[in-house]
Amino acid sequence: MTKTVQCPQCGQPVPWQDDQKWKPFCSERCKLIDLGDWAAENHRIAGKPAISPENESNDFH
Ligand SMILES: [Zn+2]
Repeated sequence: MTKTVQCPQCGQPVPWQDDQKWKPFCSERCKLIDLGDWAAENHRIAGKPAISPENESNDFH
């Protein structure tokens, strides 16, 4: 009996087996897409300044 999970990227059923090296993804491609999305999201948040120096000095006034 093989357990099946859904690929988080494309939703395809993925057999949960030792030889399924990309689990829980169905393929290397889906894994890389997911990691790429995550990295892009992370990069966008990190690149955006949390506090604007102008706003801070206005509040201080
Ligand atoms: Zn997939």
